[in-house]
Amino acid sequence: YAKAAGGNEVRFFQPEMLAEVEQRFALQQAICQALEQQQFCLFYQPKLTNTGLVVGAEALIRWQHPERGMIAPAYFIPLAEESGQIEAIGRWVLQQACLQLQQWQSDALCQNLNIAVNISVRQFYQPDFVELLAGLVQHYRINPAKLTLELTESLVLTDLDDAVHRMQQIKALGLRFAMDDFGTGYSSLSYLSRLPFDEVKIDQHFVRQSDDGQKTRDWAIVEAIIGIANTFGMALVAEGVETEAQRQLLHTSGCHCFQGYLFAKPQAVADFEHWLHQRQL
Ligand code: C2E
Ligand code: MG
Ligand code: MG
Ligand code: MG
Repeated sequence: YAKAAGGNEVRFFQPEMLAEVEQRFALQQAICQALEQQQFCLFYQPKLTNTGLVVGAEALIRWQHPERGMIAPAYFIPLAEESGQIEAIGRWVLQQACLQLQQWQSDALCQNLNIAVNISVRQFYQPDFVELLAGLVQHYRINPAKLTLELTESLVLTDLDDAVHRMQQIKALGLRFAMDDFGTGYSSLSYLSRLPFDEVKIDQHFVRQSDDGQKTRDWAIVEAIIGIANTFGMALVAEGVETEAQRQLLHTSGCHCFQGYLFAKPQAVADFEHWLHQRQL
């Protein structure tokens, strides 16, 4: 902490820092325990086309803490990424998603569903990441085209050449890639052409700004993203769709696949299956 202040400035240790260190340590211990005691679970949020067809679901991790209740990923994923625990968590998430795909393969209602998993930077650059995926696909005997990995811009930009290389190896296994939260980072649209993405997800930031269905100034960016995705033959999904007006606007602009509270919140698998079943009736 003294070092992080930079320069030659000597900073004395403050009691608040101790509290912070202790808190982070306690959280790390708790994450360890959560893995051992299986306190994590996956929630599923559907991706739907304009005609209401459910094409897949995004798996979103939840921590069901015995005392503190449900904990959102924003609270523990960043620290797990820093401590390295994300590697174990990420493995668990992938394994769980593959098991789910295997179970859905023999379920009439769910057999066509794709599952999307969020991949963190550290997990993606693990030396044995490609082998891990190959092993899971083989072990669970899943159709690899049913598994989508969602990557963020910052992950890809960490080392563009290495990212392209890894993505190509993973694509060779048959998996799909989605660019998550696209449009709010610092990247240019042009580098998308270098990356083998199958899907682009328009960040909720843009969608949220247009909750009344009016085009904001930023909507030009959304239209540019839609144009680029179409040019490269990438599928498009808009995230965070909460109102019918947003859905209409996106549809008019050429985006025909959606995810958001307008349709369904992320739910435990039994609730998700029940939701799907109700829609069929
Ligand atoms: P993300 O991948 O961009 O996921 C979308 C987030 O938006 C989710 O939050 C989802 O619950 C929320 N969301 C979906 N529809 C709506 C909507 O209509 N309105 C609003 N306001 N929010 C909506 P969540 O589940 O809290 O996840 C947050 C982030 O945590 C994810 O962003 C992802 O980056 C990360 N994350 C989640 N699960 C995992 C995981 O298994 N591994 C890793 N590495 N990261 C994960
Ligand atoms: Mg995502
Ligand atoms: Mg997203
Ligand atoms: Mg996000």
